[in-house]
Amino acid sequence: MRLGALEAGGTKMVCAIGDETGRIQEQISIPTTTPEETMPKIIAYFRDKDIDALGIAAFGPVDVKPKSPTYGSILDTPKLAWRNFSILNALKEAFDIPMGLDTDVNGSCLGEMTYGSAKGLDSVMYITIGTGIGAGIAIGGKLVHGMLHPEAGHILIAPVSGDENNSVCPYHKNCLEGLAAGPSIEKRWGTKAVNLVDKAEVWELESDYLAQAIVNFILTVSPQRIILGGGVMHQEQLFPLIRRKVIEKMNGYIRTPEMADMEHYIVPASLQGDQGIMGCVRLAELALQERRSI
Ligand code: ADP
Ligand code: ZN
Repeated sequence: MRLGALEAGGTKMVCAIGDETGRIQEQISIPTTTPEETMPKIIAYFRDKDIDALGIAAFGPVDVKPKSPTYGSILDTPKLAWRNFSILNALKEAFDIPMGLDTDVNGSCLGEMTYGSAKGLDSVMYITIGTGIGAGIAIGGKLVHGMLHPEAGHILIAPVSGDENNSVCPYHKNCLEGLAAGPSIEKRWGTKAVNLVDKAEVWELESDYLAQAIVNFILTVSPQRIILGGGVMHQEQLFPLIRRKVIEKMNGYIRTPEMADMEHYIVPASLQGDQGIMGCVRLAELALQERRSI
Protein backbone atom coordinates (compact mmCIF):
# COMPACT_ATOMS: atom_id res chain seq x y z
CA MET A 1 0.00 0.00 0.00
CA ARG A 2 1.39 3.41 -0.95
CA LEU A 3 0.03 6.14 1.28
CA GLY A 4 0.59 9.80 0.52
CA ALA A 5 0.99 12.19 3.43
CA LEU A 6 0.82 15.98 3.43
CA GLU A 7 1.56 17.94 6.56
CA ALA A 8 0.39 21.38 5.50
CA GLY A 9 2.03 23.93 7.77
CA GLY A 10 2.10 27.69 7.75
CA THR A 11 5.81 27.78 6.96
CA LYS A 12 6.37 24.50 5.12
CA MET A 13 4.54 21.69 3.41
CA VAL A 14 5.95 18.27 4.17
CA CYS A 15 5.04 15.71 1.53
CA ALA A 16 5.82 12.05 2.10
CA ILE A 17 5.12 8.50 1.05
CA GLY A 18 4.55 5.90 3.73
CA ASP A 19 3.03 2.50 4.22
CA GLU A 20 0.52 1.00 6.63
CA THR A 21 3.22 0.34 9.22
CA GLY A 22 3.78 4.09 9.37
CA ARG A 23 7.24 3.80 7.83
CA ILE A 24 8.12 6.87 5.82
CA GLN A 25 9.84 5.88 2.60
CA GLU A 26 10.64 9.33 1.32
CA GLN A 27 9.76 12.91 2.08
CA ILE A 28 10.35 16.45 0.88
CA SER A 29 9.63 19.88 2.23
CA ILE A 30 8.23 22.76 0.20
CA PRO A 31 8.06 26.33 1.57
CA THR A 32 4.51 27.60 2.11
CA THR A 33 4.13 30.79 0.07
CA THR A 34 0.87 31.28 -1.84
CA PRO A 35 -1.55 28.56 -2.97
CA GLU A 36 -0.81 29.44 -6.61
CA GLU A 37 2.87 28.77 -6.09
CA THR A 38 2.80 26.02 -3.49
CA MET A 39 -0.03 23.73 -4.64
CA PRO A 40 1.45 22.91 -8.07
CA LYS A 41 4.67 21.84 -6.36
CA ILE A 42 2.78 19.55 -3.99
CA ILE A 43 0.76 18.08 -6.85
CA ALA A 44 3.91 17.58 -8.93
CA TYR A 45 5.51 15.67 -6.06
CA PHE A 46 2.61 13.23 -5.69
CA ARG A 47 1.91 13.02 -9.45
CA ASP A 48 4.14 10.04 -10.30
CA LYS A 49 4.09 8.37 -6.89
CA ASP A 50 1.23 5.97 -7.57
CA ILE A 51 -0.41 6.57 -4.18
CA ASP A 52 -3.58 4.74 -3.14
CA ALA A 53 -4.80 7.45 -0.78
CA LEU A 54 -3.71 10.78 0.68
CA GLY A 55 -3.85 12.03 4.26
CA ILE A 56 -3.66 15.74 4.97
CA ALA A 57 -3.12 17.49 8.29
CA ALA A 58 -3.50 21.21 7.81
CA PHE A 59 -2.81 24.41 9.71
CA GLY A 60 -5.96 26.12 10.75
CA PRO A 61 -8.47 27.13 11.32
CA VAL A 62 -9.59 24.63 8.72
CA ASP A 63 -13.00 23.18 7.94
CA VAL A 64 -12.72 19.49 8.81
CA LYS A 65 -16.41 18.66 8.72
CA PRO A 66 -17.17 16.46 5.71
CA LYS A 67 -20.80 17.61 5.48
CA SER A 68 -19.92 21.31 5.42
CA PRO A 69 -20.06 23.16 2.06
CA THR A 70 -16.60 24.54 2.77
CA TYR A 71 -15.10 21.21 3.86
CA GLY A 72 -11.38 21.27 3.23
CA SER A 73 -11.00 25.03 3.20
CA ILE A 74 -8.58 27.03 5.27
CA LEU A 75 -10.72 29.57 7.15
CA ASP A 76 -9.86 32.82 8.95
CA THR A 77 -6.10 32.51 8.82
CA PRO A 78 -3.82 35.54 9.15
CA LYS A 79 -2.09 34.07 6.08
CA LEU A 80 -4.31 36.02 3.76
CA ALA A 81 -3.36 34.21 0.55
CA TRP A 82 -4.75 31.00 2.04
CA ARG A 83 -7.94 32.43 3.49
CA ASN A 84 -10.96 30.50 2.12
CA PHE A 85 -8.67 28.43 -0.09
CA SER A 86 -9.83 24.82 -0.40
CA ILE A 87 -6.70 22.79 -0.09
CA LEU A 88 -8.77 19.62 -0.32
CA ASN A 89 -10.51 20.62 -3.56
CA ALA A 90 -7.19 21.54 -5.14
CA LEU A 91 -5.89 18.06 -4.38
CA LYS A 92 -9.13 16.29 -5.35
CA GLU A 93 -9.02 17.99 -8.74
CA ALA A 94 -5.57 16.54 -9.25
CA PHE A 95 -6.05 13.04 -7.82
CA ASP A 96 -9.08 10.77 -7.81
CA ILE A 97 -8.17 8.83 -4.69
CA PRO A 98 -9.56 8.65 -1.13
CA MET A 99 -8.39 11.54 1.02
CA GLY A 100 -8.51 12.12 4.74
CA LEU A 101 -8.21 15.55 6.30
CA ASP A 102 -7.75 16.80 9.82
CA THR A 103 -6.04 19.58 11.73
CA ASP A 104 -2.26 19.56 12.08
CA VAL A 105 -2.49 18.84 15.82
CA ASN A 106 -5.09 16.12 15.44
CA GLY A 107 -2.73 14.59 12.87
CA SER A 108 0.09 14.52 15.41
CA CYS A 109 -2.26 13.12 18.04
CA LEU A 110 -3.26 10.36 15.64
CA GLY A 111 0.38 9.65 14.78
CA GLU A 112 1.22 9.18 18.45
CA MET A 113 -1.89 7.04 19.01
CA THR A 114 -1.15 4.80 16.05
CA TYR A 115 2.63 4.46 16.12
CA GLY A 116 3.93 6.25 19.20
CA SER A 117 3.72 6.43 22.95
CA ALA A 118 -0.08 6.71 23.01
CA LYS A 119 -0.58 3.41 21.19
CA GLY A 120 -3.42 1.45 22.76
CA LEU A 121 -4.92 4.50 24.48
CA ASP A 122 -8.18 6.01 23.29
CA SER A 123 -8.27 9.38 25.02
CA VAL A 124 -5.20 11.45 24.36
CA MET A 125 -4.11 15.07 24.02
CA TYR A 126 -1.25 16.22 21.85
CA ILE A 127 -0.22 19.79 22.55
CA THR A 128 2.27 21.68 20.43
CA ILE A 129 4.08 24.65 21.90
CA GLY A 130 5.80 26.40 19.02
CA THR A 131 5.06 29.53 17.01
CA GLY A 132 1.54 29.03 18.28
CA ILE A 133 -0.05 26.61 20.70
CA GLY A 134 -2.59 24.06 19.58
CA ALA A 135 -3.99 20.80 20.82
CA GLY A 136 -5.17 17.66 19.09
CA ILE A 137 -7.68 15.74 21.14
CA ALA A 138 -8.96 12.20 20.87
CA ILE A 139 -11.75 10.98 23.11
CA GLY A 140 -12.96 7.39 23.00
CA GLY A 141 -10.74 6.72 19.97
CA LYS A 142 -12.19 9.57 17.92
CA LEU A 143 -10.42 12.78 17.05
CA VAL A 144 -12.51 15.66 18.34
CA HIS A 145 -13.92 18.20 15.88
CA GLY A 146 -17.11 19.46 17.45
CA MET A 147 -18.50 22.72 16.13
CA LEU A 148 -15.24 23.63 14.31
CA HIS A 149 -12.30 21.97 16.01
CA PRO A 150 -10.79 22.64 19.41
CA GLU A 151 -8.62 25.75 19.67
CA ALA A 152 -7.30 24.80 23.06
CA GLY A 153 -4.19 26.96 22.67
CA HIS A 154 -6.34 30.01 23.29
CA ILE A 155 -7.86 29.00 26.59
CA LEU A 156 -7.80 31.83 29.07
CA ILE A 157 -5.43 31.48 31.98
CA ALA A 158 -4.42 33.65 34.92
CA PRO A 159 -1.33 35.78 34.37
CA VAL A 160 1.38 35.39 36.98
CA SER A 161 1.76 38.48 39.15
CA GLY A 162 3.96 41.01 37.36
CA ASP A 163 3.31 39.44 33.96
CA GLU A 164 -0.11 40.95 33.31
CA ASN A 165 0.50 42.70 30.00
CA ASN A 166 2.63 40.31 28.04
CA SER A 167 0.16 38.42 25.88
CA VAL A 168 1.01 38.58 22.20
CA CYS A 169 -2.35 37.19 21.10
CA PRO A 170 -4.27 39.87 19.19
CA TYR A 171 -7.56 38.41 20.43
CA HIS A 172 -6.96 37.65 24.10
CA LYS A 173 -5.31 39.55 26.89
CA ASN A 174 -4.48 36.38 28.78
CA CYS A 175 -4.59 33.23 26.70
CA LEU A 176 -2.14 30.35 26.77
CA GLU A 177 -0.78 31.00 23.28
CA GLY A 178 -0.47 34.72 23.98
CA LEU A 179 1.51 34.09 27.15
CA ALA A 180 3.47 30.92 26.45
CA ALA A 181 4.15 30.29 22.75
CA GLY A 182 7.64 30.90 21.34
CA PRO A 183 6.98 34.48 20.16
CA SER A 184 5.64 35.40 23.59
CA ILE A 185 8.80 34.15 25.28
CA GLU A 186 10.87 36.09 22.77
CA LYS A 187 8.94 39.32 23.29
CA ARG A 188 8.96 39.11 27.08
CA TRP A 189 12.67 38.30 27.46
CA GLY A 190 14.01 40.11 24.39
CA THR A 191 15.63 37.12 22.71
CA LYS A 192 14.67 33.75 21.27
CA ALA A 193 13.76 30.98 23.70
CA VAL A 194 16.73 28.92 22.59
CA ASN A 195 19.05 31.65 23.98
CA LEU A 196 17.42 31.54 27.39
CA VAL A 197 18.32 28.00 28.39
CA ASP A 198 20.19 29.05 31.55
CA LYS A 199 17.63 31.56 32.81
CA ALA A 200 15.65 29.60 35.38
CA GLU A 201 12.92 32.24 35.71
CA VAL A 202 11.99 31.84 32.04
CA TRP A 203 11.17 28.18 32.51
CA GLU A 204 9.51 28.68 35.90
CA LEU A 205 7.06 31.09 34.30
CA GLU A 206 6.64 29.05 31.13
CA SER A 207 5.93 25.86 33.07
CA ASP A 208 3.43 27.68 35.26
CA TYR A 209 1.34 28.71 32.28
CA LEU A 210 1.56 25.30 30.65
CA ALA A 211 0.65 23.59 33.93
CA GLN A 212 -2.39 25.84 34.39
CA ALA A 213 -3.61 24.90 30.94
CA ILE A 214 -2.87 21.21 31.41
CA VAL A 215 -4.82 21.11 34.68
CA ASN A 216 -7.80 22.59 32.81
CA PHE A 217 -7.38 20.05 30.02
CA ILE A 218 -7.18 17.15 32.47
CA LEU A 219 -10.34 18.34 34.21
CA THR A 220 -12.22 18.79 30.92
CA VAL A 221 -11.01 16.03 28.63
CA SER A 222 -9.68 13.47 31.10
CA PRO A 223 -6.97 12.24 28.74
CA GLN A 224 -5.07 9.06 29.54
CA ARG A 225 -1.84 10.65 28.33
CA ILE A 226 -0.70 14.15 27.42
CA ILE A 227 2.01 14.54 24.82
CA LEU A 228 3.89 17.82 24.52
CA GLY A 229 5.64 18.67 21.26
CA GLY A 230 6.74 21.73 19.29
CA GLY A 231 9.92 23.81 19.29
CA VAL A 232 9.64 25.19 22.82
CA MET A 233 9.41 21.68 24.29
CA HIS A 234 12.94 21.02 23.09
CA GLN A 235 13.70 22.61 26.45
CA GLU A 236 13.55 19.32 28.29
CA GLN A 237 13.92 20.99 31.68
CA LEU A 238 10.30 22.03 31.24
CA PHE A 239 8.97 18.50 31.73
CA PRO A 240 9.83 18.03 35.43
CA LEU A 241 8.70 21.59 36.16
CA ILE A 242 5.37 21.09 34.39
CA ARG A 243 4.74 17.74 36.08
CA ARG A 244 5.42 19.19 39.52
CA LYS A 245 3.22 22.22 38.94
CA VAL A 246 0.36 20.12 37.57
CA ILE A 247 0.41 18.06 40.76
CA GLU A 248 0.54 21.22 42.89
CA LYS A 249 -2.26 22.99 41.05
CA MET A 250 -4.48 19.91 40.96
CA ASN A 251 -4.02 19.76 44.72
CA GLY A 252 -5.03 16.12 45.01
CA TYR A 253 -8.41 16.53 43.37
CA ILE A 254 -7.99 13.85 40.71
CA ARG A 255 -6.48 10.59 41.94
CA THR A 256 -5.83 8.04 39.24
CA PRO A 257 -2.94 5.66 38.56
CA GLU A 258 -2.02 7.88 35.59
CA MET A 259 -1.79 11.00 37.75
CA ALA A 260 0.37 9.09 40.21
CA ASP A 261 2.82 8.27 37.42
CA MET A 262 3.50 11.72 35.98
CA GLU A 263 6.65 10.62 34.12
CA HIS A 264 4.45 8.50 31.88
CA TYR A 265 1.47 10.82 31.94
CA ILE A 266 2.97 14.05 30.62
CA VAL A 267 5.51 13.01 28.03
CA PRO A 268 7.48 14.36 25.05
CA ALA A 269 6.55 13.41 21.50
CA SER A 270 7.95 9.98 20.79
CA LEU A 271 8.40 9.80 17.03
CA GLN A 272 11.46 12.01 16.46
CA GLY A 273 9.45 14.83 14.98
CA ASP A 274 7.61 12.53 12.57
CA GLN A 275 4.37 12.31 14.59
CA GLY A 276 2.63 14.76 12.24
CA ILE A 277 3.59 13.18 8.96
CA MET A 278 3.00 9.67 10.33
CA GLY A 279 -0.45 10.81 11.44
CA CYS A 280 -1.08 11.85 7.83
CA VAL A 281 -0.13 8.37 6.68
CA ARG A 282 -2.71 6.97 9.07
CA LEU A 283 -5.32 9.47 7.84
CA ALA A 284 -4.69 8.18 4.33
CA GLU A 285 -5.05 4.58 5.45
CA LEU A 286 -8.31 5.36 7.26
CA ALA A 287 -9.67 7.16 4.17
CA LEU A 288 -8.84 4.12 2.06
CA GLN A 289 -10.54 1.78 4.54
CA GLU A 290 -13.62 3.97 4.59
CA ARG A 291 -13.82 4.00 0.80
CA ARG A 292 -13.53 0.20 0.72
CA SER A 293 -16.25 -0.27 3.30
CA ILE A 294 -18.78 1.89 1.43
P1 ADP B 1 5.96 25.83 14.26
O1 ADP B 1 5.20 26.03 15.51
O2 ADP B 1 6.08 27.09 13.46
O3 ADP B 1 5.54 24.66 13.46
P2 ADP B 1 8.16 24.99 15.95
O4 ADP B 1 7.35 23.95 16.61
O5 ADP B 1 9.58 24.66 15.61
O6 ADP B 1 7.48 25.52 14.63
O7 ADP B 1 8.15 26.25 16.91
C1 ADP B 1 8.87 27.40 16.65
C2 ADP B 1 9.00 28.18 17.96
O8 ADP B 1 9.68 27.38 18.91
C3 ADP B 1 9.78 29.48 17.83
O9 ADP B 1 9.13 30.51 18.56
C4 ADP B 1 11.13 29.15 18.43
O10 ADP B 1 11.71 30.26 19.08
C5 ADP B 1 10.82 28.05 19.42
N1 ADP B 1 11.91 27.09 19.49
C6 ADP B 1 12.45 26.39 18.48
N2 ADP B 1 13.46 25.61 18.90
C7 ADP B 1 13.57 25.85 20.24
C8 ADP B 1 14.43 25.35 21.26
N3 ADP B 1 15.39 24.47 21.00
N4 ADP B 1 14.24 25.80 22.50
C9 ADP B 1 13.27 26.70 22.78
N5 ADP B 1 12.44 27.21 21.87
C10 ADP B 1 12.59 26.79 20.61
ZN1 ZN C 1 -5.55 33.93 22.13
